[in-house]
Amino acid sequence: MTSGHKDMVAVANAGSSSLKFSLYGLEDGNLTLALRGLVEGLGTSPAFTAKDPAGQVIGQHRWEEGATLGHEAALRHVMAFVRELVPDITLQGIGHRVVHGGLEHAAPVIVTPDILAQLDALSPLAPLHQPNNLAPIRLAFEVLPGVPQVACFDTAFHRSNAEVAQVYALPFELHEAGVRRYGFHGLSYEYIAGRLPEVAPELAQGKVIVLHLGNGASACAMQNGRSVASTMGFTALEGLPMGTRCGELDPGVLIWLMDQRGMDARALETLLYKQSGLLGVSGISSDMRVLLASDEPRARLAVDLFVHRTVREIGSLAAELGGLDALVFTAGIGENADEIRRRVIEGCAWLGVSIDEPANRARGPRVSHPGGACSAWVIPTDEELMIARHTVALLAQSQDDVGARP
Ligand code: ADP
Repeated sequence: MTSGHKDMVAVANAGSSSLKFSLYGLEDGNLTLALRGLVEGLGTSPAFTAKDPAGQVIGQHRWEEGATLGHEAALRHVMAFVRELVPDITLQGIGHRVVHGGLEHAAPVIVTPDILAQLDALSPLAPLHQPNNLAPIRLAFEVLPGVPQVACFDTAFHRSNAEVAQVYALPFELHEAGVRRYGFHGLSYEYIAGRLPEVAPELAQGKVIVLHLGNGASACAMQNGRSVASTMGFTALEGLPMGTRCGELDPGVLIWLMDQRGMDARALETLLYKQSGLLGVSGISSDMRVLLASDEPRARLAVDLFVHRTVREIGSLAAELGGLDALVFTAGIGENADEIRRRVIEGCAWLGVSIDEPANRARGPRVSHPGGACSAWVIPTDEELMIARHTVALLAQSQDDVGARP
């Protein structure tokens, strides 16, 4: 470490049309957020925004309407911005969100060319996400040689699930070929598992269902801070209805769509990932805020369906756990939509939980009345911080390993 230089860790989260990034200062192993930002609309009308930890905009750029920007160009723009803002930076490592770790990876890894090839081979399991996630790793190898890259997986946290919670009732040969329930949003669940002992120590060993309700939505049953089961399966389509994804669906519908509507795999993919969920049912928006503010009957139906399916999945996961001590709400809807929390909690009265409305409006952290068999909480998630922590921990471990070598 050069004296006077700032040690920092970067986090990259590359989606299909956006690149989210964060930068953390690193001092004595402690991470402090320096900035976070986003390049969005990569394929349509790219726009860059960076904010300081207080949420103040510290950088902005718009490309002309209709311009397209690849992940590489987006990352180069981010790097140029960061270099200008913090010229004396020493980047200790970059943590990447990678959607699929397959069966191999139950924990984050330092990426080597071999590991990159292995992760690339998982792309058919998550064709819409994995190639985008890997693009910044490939680029960073090229333009930042010597800076360690760490891959953190959305699937890893669920590798603790029993086999019975991972198997589909299909010919077993397909299970062996990798068609099984992996589960996603693992970095968010892992972060919440780490926060529980701080927010509610009595729950750290308990039976808890965490509801990650954002644009993507899922739920995870946890015991002793470990994942027991979750609502997402082979892909991030299963389980709850989402902004534009369908959630649980009778597979017979797919056969019907192929037979009667002549849809092929690509058409089904677009329908199930981009045109379904809250957007599909309402015909208005994928955004929960818009739907909650609307009087349109189909907007109400979309919200009703979201609540209905969430309550049903809670019942299923509570059965898996054999009881329930707490519900935890997180992500965009879970943290902010008071009405959704109220309605979900009311639907779970049979579990012994009752809403404390003033606490709910104040966003908790505890939003249920004391004394019930089950409590309810709001805990904001922070997947980027989880990735940064993993990155620092792995780098420290690899330095120890080097030091310990004979
Ligand atoms: P992503 O999965 O893209 O990270 P987020 O976790 O940011 O998504 O969640 C986005 C969702 O959160 C949107 O449906 C948005 O409408 C909803 N949301 C954000 N703030 C509010 C709010 N104040 N009230 C209701 N819904 C909200």
